[in-house]
Amino acid sequence: MGVRTPEQFLDGLRDDRTVYYRGQRVKAVPDHPELGMAARHAAIDFQLAENPKFRELAVYREGGDEYSAYYRIPRNAKDLMARSKLIETATTAGATLVILVKEIGTDALFALQRVLARNGDVTGLGRVDAFYRKCRDRDLALAVAQTDVKGDRSKRPSEQKDPDLYVRVVEKRHDGIVVRGAKVHTSCTPYVDEVIVLPSRTMGLGEEAWSVAFAIPVASPGVHLYASDYLHGSDDPFTRPISTNHKMIETLTVFDNVFVPWERVFFVDRPDLAGAAALTFVEFHRFTAVSYKLPLLDALVGAGIAIARANGIDHAGHVRDKLTWLVGYAETVRGLTELAALRCEVEAGVAYPHVFTSNMAKWTFARDFHKALETVQDLAGGLLVTGPSGMDWESAEVRPVLEKYLQGAWPTDRRLAMLNLIGELSTRLYGGYQALLAVHAEGSIEAEKLAMFRAYDPGRAFSLALQLAGLKND
Ligand SMILES: Cc1cc2nc3c(=O)[nH]c(=O)nc-3n(C[C@H](O)[C@H](O)[C@H](O)COP(=O)(O)OP(=O)(O)OC[C@H]3O[C@@H](n4cnc5c(N)ncnc54)[C@H](O)[C@@H]3O)c2cc1C
Repeated sequence: MGVRTPEQFLDGLRDDRTVYYRGQRVKAVPDHPELGMAARHAAIDFQLAENPKFRELAVYREGGDEYSAYYRIPRNAKDLMARSKLIETATTAGATLVILVKEIGTDALFALQRVLARNGDVTGLGRVDAFYRKCRDRDLALAVAQTDVKGDRSKRPSEQKDPDLYVRVVEKRHDGIVVRGAKVHTSCTPYVDEVIVLPSRTMGLGEEAWSVAFAIPVASPGVHLYASDYLHGSDDPFTRPISTNHKMIETLTVFDNVFVPWERVFFVDRPDLAGAAALTFVEFHRFTAVSYKLPLLDALVGAGIAIARANGIDHAGHVRDKLTWLVGYAETVRGLTELAALRCEVEAGVAYPHVFTSNMAKWTFARDFHKALETVQDLAGGLLVTGPSGMDWESAEVRPVLEKYLQGAWPTDRRLAMLNLIGELSTRLYGGYQALLAVHAEGSIEAEKLAMFRAYDPGRAFSLALQLAGLKND
């Protein structure tokens, strides 16, 4: 039992996993220019455990043992707050980009434990527990493949033209199952050890084959990863201060007749568990999500204040008004995140974030994120998309011109550095990535509203309204 070093984590990725990038099979993930950068970004979760400043937060001690604090089962609100702080700290070290390789997998494991315990599924629970201990003791990195490719959204899995548009069981053997199909948008898959596969929706009778949850090493025969190049080629640290060093990569994750031994199958043929597993995972994951959005919001607030000063507009009435809105938005998300931990529900000794409040935190974040981007863009001005490159800045001929003409209330070097940060956060590839993440990742805005509606207990408000109207509550 223990924690791995970043080097051990990266070395563990040198196996025969099947990863494609820009049409080419990747030989060794850590050596690949783009995937390697993403893997080194993921290694931040391991670096924190080594850093004396963060060790207390990142490493949990239980008796004589110690393991990564991500694997610590939260028992109360304080533990959930500590988990949130760890996720926020790691994301800050990742320059506003979530690390995710331990965050999301532990969300899935805690959710599976809850669903199987509630349903008294002793076999499934035993398998989840054994898998959890293995991951914890070996300090493994995990991805979660939940979102199916889904085909025609108006049709159920069993109604699709091609039954593989949702991952399904195609064969059962004495020693395990064989699965086929594809998941999409799976974060970090090329540079983790294991992938946990969950259903993405509720299932009905007749949809037993699609009602399956399991875990499989990424380097398993038949697991084929097709990596997105969306964040490809950030090579100018002057204009892209974040994405030249930090990157997360998603895959189309294909299961081409993959054998999964029984001890790795958490449930199968259980339409009654599919929806519960899907929902319980996202409920836990949205708390993680809002925790890792906080550094991004702080960065936007800080950049908004700084650029207002750099442009000499910080005393203008409309600027104060915009900054007040921005601060209020960010602090509302932070406050709701803390409240989701404080209002936690403890079940079988495990603390789960409050469902209504974490969804409200995530919805508040997502609903107004584009307005926050608009606000900092408004304060920054047009140079976000018309400004000079790093090569201009390095040029002895060009730089004096820039220094003379692009100064504001701050000198040009400081003003451009802040403009370039805002450009990265709001107008360039990384900004677009974060903007799309806000709308879709960890569930869409509609999914959050639906979860809030389901979780809200109208009793108190309804009774008060009846009482004020002089009506009986019958
Ligand atoms: C950067 C990024 C990282 C991600 N990482 C992961 C990950 O690690 N693991 C994972 O499993 N997933 C991941 N996701 C997936 C994420 O949760 C999904 O993007 C999200 O669930 C939306 O799914 P979709 O992209 O298929 O869009 P869709 O579900 O197709 O949504 C598009 C629109 O259609 C609507 N819609 C969809 N179905 C219906 C319907 N039946 N009736 C009416 N309206 C409908 C939606 O509300 C939305 O407005 C990630 C996504 C992103 C963008």
